[in-house]
Amino acid sequence: MIRQYELVERVRAYDPEIDENLLDRAYVFSMKAHGNQKRASGDPYFSHPLEVAGILTDMKMDGSTVATGLLHDTIEDTLATHEEIEGLFGGEVARLVDGVTKLSLLELNSESTKQAENFRKFFLALSDDIRVLIVKLADRLHNMRTLHHIKKPEKRRTIALETMELYAPLAERIGMQEIKTELEDLSFLHMNPDARASIAARLSFLNDEAGDLRGRIAQALKDTLSAHNIEANIFGRQKQPYSIWRKMQRQNVGFEQLGDVMGFRILVDDVPTCYQALGVVHGAWSSVPGRFKDYISTPKRNNYQSIHTTVIGPERQRIEIQIRTHEMHALATYGVAAHWQYKLYDASDSDQHQKWFGELKEILDQAESPEEFLEHTKISLYTDQVFCFTPRGDLVPLPRGATPIDFAYAVHTDVGNTCVGSKVNGTLMPLHTELINGDQVEIVRSKTQTPPASWEDIAVTGRARAAIRRFHREHGREEYVALGKRLLDRAFTRAGYDLAEQTLEPACDSLLIDSENDLYLAVGRGNVTAGRVLEALFPGERNKDENRINLPLADSGGEEEPIVIKGVQDGTAIRLASCCHPLPGDRIVGLVTPGTGIQVHTIDCAELAKVSEDPDLWVDASWDEDARDHFFHLSSVEVRMSNEPGVLGKLATLVGKNQGNITNLKMTDRSQQLFTLRIDIEVQDVKHLTDIIAALRALAVVESVERIRG
Ligand code: MN
Repeated sequence: MIRQYELVERVRAYDPEIDENLLDRAYVFSMKAHGNQKRASGDPYFSHPLEVAGILTDMKMDGSTVATGLLHDTIEDTLATHEEIEGLFGGEVARLVDGVTKLSLLELNSESTKQAENFRKFFLALSDDIRVLIVKLADRLHNMRTLHHIKKPEKRRTIALETMELYAPLAERIGMQEIKTELEDLSFLHMNPDARASIAARLSFLNDEAGDLRGRIAQALKDTLSAHNIEANIFGRQKQPYSIWRKMQRQNVGFEQLGDVMGFRILVDDVPTCYQALGVVHGAWSSVPGRFKDYISTPKRNNYQSIHTTVIGPERQRIEIQIRTHEMHALATYGVAAHWQYKLYDASDSDQHQKWFGELKEILDQAESPEEFLEHTKISLYTDQVFCFTPRGDLVPLPRGATPIDFAYAVHTDVGNTCVGSKVNGTLMPLHTELINGDQVEIVRSKTQTPPASWEDIAVTGRARAAIRRFHREHGREEYVALGKRLLDRAFTRAGYDLAEQTLEPACDSLLIDSENDLYLAVGRGNVTAGRVLEALFPGERNKDENRINLPLADSGGEEEPIVIKGVQDGTAIRLASCCHPLPGDRIVGLVTPGTGIQVHTIDCAELAKVSEDPDLWVDASWDEDARDHFFHLSSVEVRMSNEPGVLGKLATLVGKNQGNITNLKMTDRSQQLFTLRIDIEVQDVKHLTDIIAALRALAVVESVERIRG
């Protein structure tokens, strides 16, 4: 175990102004609070928070964070309270410990790994102080390092899976490469012990075979550099079994092809020395063409800086070399945590904290791919979302402003339709309550309940609104009688008869229906088709009516849309509605439009409300998954942005950078400070559009971005 004075010394080594007293008190408090609790290994429990604090000193975190590491389990696992922590250690530490406790209460359900993405977003949304996340990662790292003490293989696998799905990606997201690698490798060890063992065995065989080649090369590099008065630290780069495994999976290559290259890292004090070192290395050994990359003068988008080169080394061996400063290395290893190390922000100074947070956001925004970008912009983006839980702990993401009604329909339509009340965090709350992040929602149900139409105004999600509307369409008897009448009227007219002149009694008799009214109801509800009624009265007439979906049709314009519509024969004209511009990925419905074939709308398009009492015109539609990549679709967004020079250029550049094609741009409103634009953009699908919207929202000059529907 790390001694009290050792911990203080470790922090003092990088922060001479350390609050020694704070650390001493946190050490003693945590040790007493955990008392004689034991870990699975049999060690005193206190060894765990102590090791976590130790990991935080490896990351060179500030004193408050290290103290938080010591205290992180006290609120959850001991009798200590928030008030006590705040009284003894101040508001900042108490807030951090609280944040870590909150994250600890979320356990990823092993069955629902598909929810991992949501959990990652939720974590980011909750960690409004990034140090909370860093402590949580250190906590998980120590738990993974000691996971072998847990006896049940099932439990080990669950924890390893959670680490792989949730914590390793989070570590990568905030640039903590080293933590990410170790978490992945430890998870791999417990998830697939056989695969890891065979790769590790192969690696050690190769290492043995290479003898002390690695050491000789490192020494040759060091000697050559110091002959030119360059002071450098040289490290051999060890390949991790998991990264080799991933490469073997991804690239379908064998171990031999991956294992033959040796990697070295040269760390120096400053940038000019990096280039001097490069000159020396290239002067001493011949470089492999096409392998030189200068990420110092042009950093990667995530701010990664380093020089990469490959040379035929001193032993005629191909070696990969990375040259960088110690600071660049810290940033590549510890990501955002390195900011404390080199910029020494004073986290208690709110201006500085704000500034740091802004910079963090910038780093997060500079992601490699649009998907990452979407995640990284959580600071602006996820304020649009709230994440709530079912009593079983499943996560339900909802748009901001969502109510328990939206929650109920998000869980299941039946739950929504039978909902009579809601308990939010255990307390009965009105159904119009606006849900907030982390709410646990329990829906109170009754079999006799039906959803009142007024709920449509309370619900904010398209899903809930469409379901409420659908319910009324399906359950309003009066409406159905009227509808049946209209349908029959139309079918009769088409066949050349006048419904008003007909007596329907013979049809009722042959279809075993009691009355004319019930017949209308049966037709309106779709239990009996108008065609069958026609045939009952006029045998031979039925077929004329069956083709109504396919006739009459307009020219489809030559372009086939990647949509599947159930029950529609080939050749039917299908068009995407111009009111809502459906995109692949949207939930859609087809609307039979006489004279034009089938128009496809998004499920929440305002146009649908106008024809909602005519459900025979609705046909089920869905996107053809295979075809979605081959088409570009028009979409419209409304952007409100600052009225200042150059903003349009920024906007257009950003859309272009995200592979969107602007086809039209219209200013709809303009004031001194703000103006509103309607922009038509061609995109591939809903996700593509969401990426672009996220990117736009992250622009400082942009006030709001909304997709236009209908
Ligand atoms: Mn812990």
